[in-house]
Amino acid sequence: MGTVRLYDDKPYEKEFTGRIVRISSAEDGGCLIELDQTLFFPEEGGQTSDTGMLSGFKVKHVSIEGDTVVHEVDCSVSDLKAGAEAHGVIDWDHRFSNMQNHTGEHILSGFLHSRWGSENTGFHLSDNIVTLDTSRELSGDELKELEREANRVVYLDLPVCCRYYPPEELKGLEYRSKKTFDSDVRLVTIPGVDICACCAPHVAHTGEIGIIKIIKAIRYKGGMRLTILCGERGYEFLSGEHDMIENLSHILSENTDKLDEAVKRILGEKSSLEIKLKNAARQRLEADIASIPLGEKNAVLFTGSVDNTVQRNAVNELSEKYEGICAVFASDGGEGYNFIISYPSGDARDIAGRLKEKLGARGGGSKEMVQGNVRGGEREICDILLSI
Ligand SMILES: [Zn+2]
Repeated sequence: MGTVRLYDDKPYEKEFTGRIVRISSAEDGGCLIELDQTLFFPEEGGQTSDTGMLSGFKVKHVSIEGDTVVHEVDCSVSDLKAGAEAHGVIDWDHRFSNMQNHTGEHILSGFLHSRWGSENTGFHLSDNIVTLDTSRELSGDELKELEREANRVVYLDLPVCCRYYPPEELKGLEYRSKKTFDSDVRLVTIPGVDICACCAPHVAHTGEIGIIKIIKAIRYKGGMRLTILCGERGYEFLSGEHDMIENLSHILSENTDKLDEAVKRILGEKSSLEIKLKNAARQRLEADIASIPLGEKNAVLFTGSVDNTVQRNAVNELSEKYEGICAVFASDGGEGYNFIISYPSGDARDIAGRLKEKLGARGGGSKEMVQGNVRGGEREICDILLSI
């Protein structure tokens, strides 16, 4: 006989007493314990298991094998005896959060199905993330409608009814299910919203969900994957977002409803300053080129950030006038330089090789020209080049 699943009918019970049917050592330490009955919901249907305590020992995970619920408990086989009673306490905050998020998923999937005929193709509920997959792609407006309607179901505080239906009662009854059954089926019914075959604990009334928030929607396997947060998790998320917006408003000295305009303005200013800086660096580079006396062997210049084309043109110009090392090192905005080097009377790859050997430079090219990136100071780089 399998484990009696107390969570089926008593999803709000937090403590129970069961008799230990079997106890054995687990491979990774701790024990595997079977009870005659349990309130611990096992990992099933994409939802992580309950956690809590069993007779003072931590219940780390709960799984289901056939019709038997197996508790992974942080104890040794000598701590608890088969045949003895064990007292279980589930982590209620964790359980209730799962009930809120799970029931929220039913409302969303029910509406997706009734409104657009979209099927639920996957569900994942862990401590960190809740996702539901649906077979149809939705537009931004449709996602807004889905979220708004789902929250209306929350406001209506509808009853959520969970019970087993024998096969004869199921005839003619339409319900969502990923598999077919030949025995009694546990249906979860939210009147006018959803009827779905499901084994997990749910809240008794939709008002307990508090809020349903879709925080991300991406295309997935021809449909969509929605990341959702319900109940306290949804509240914490929105509260965090609100704090962040208030903080940004303070930093930018702008009202929250004008933050997008402020950010666009700052990005525009940044872009225009970058253009000015590059133009100034190009003009300085041109002046530096003109200042190198003809007759010099090498022409090595260091400059601020410039476009790659400007840098390349400068090196080409230098290599028409000088036969030694012709190089432009442009600041990469950090602690290094983007370099382009030509060596009309030699092989530019030798120069890049020396920079790689001494300073770990990256890059490559041809005999005529090499380009890459190097970290190091101007003096250090010059010493290496002049030693060639
Ligand atoms: Zn369910």
